[in-house]
Amino acid sequence: MTLTIENGWLDKAQKKPSPFYNQRPTNDVSLLVIHNISLPAGEFGHTYIDDLFLGNLDCDAHQTFKELEGLEVSAHFLIRRNGEITQFVNCDERAWHAGVSEFEGRSGCNDFSIGIELEGADTCNYEDTQYQSLLILTQAIIKAYPAITTERIIGHCHIAPVRKTDPGPYFDWQYYLSALS
Ligand SMILES: [Zn+2]
Repeated sequence: MTLTIENGWLDKAQKKPSPFYNQRPTNDVSLLVIHNISLPAGEFGHTYIDDLFLGNLDCDAHQTFKELEGLEVSAHFLIRRNGEITQFVNCDERAWHAGVSEFEGRSGCNDFSIGIELEGADTCNYEDTQYQSLLILTQAIIKAYPAITTERIIGHCHIAPVRKTDPGPYFDWQYYLSALS
């Protein structure tokens, strides 16, 4: 299967527009950042991630959600455990996924990056179907934003090493990057 991004939106993906985005200060979209997320941590299959990115999370639904109260975050894409892709922010706009970050001396990676969240955790493997979706999504992104070369596909842990560990030690970089080339 081939996916296409047109005017910043992926065809064939579920779209759930997040309020948490703004305009990029530059037309330069040249970095792809891979993340993981699970809510509650280590649990999969809930809709809480969508709720968080849409600003609808019920912070009373779980004790660990209290600290998420008022948090305004998003990513361009989420890939669920079953491989399903949801898009929350137009790729031409700035999503709020990287936070304080730096790549090759340039800070504020949200300005020039696309963020993909994998539903997952640092403590377990990702599903094969997630890699397959990630690969076809990455190919669509590279086609639409050719400044994103394989050298410019990194983890959140690489641009915010003090704060972040995702996508974690179970993410198979070698498999992913070699399958792209
Ligand atoms: Zn992250």
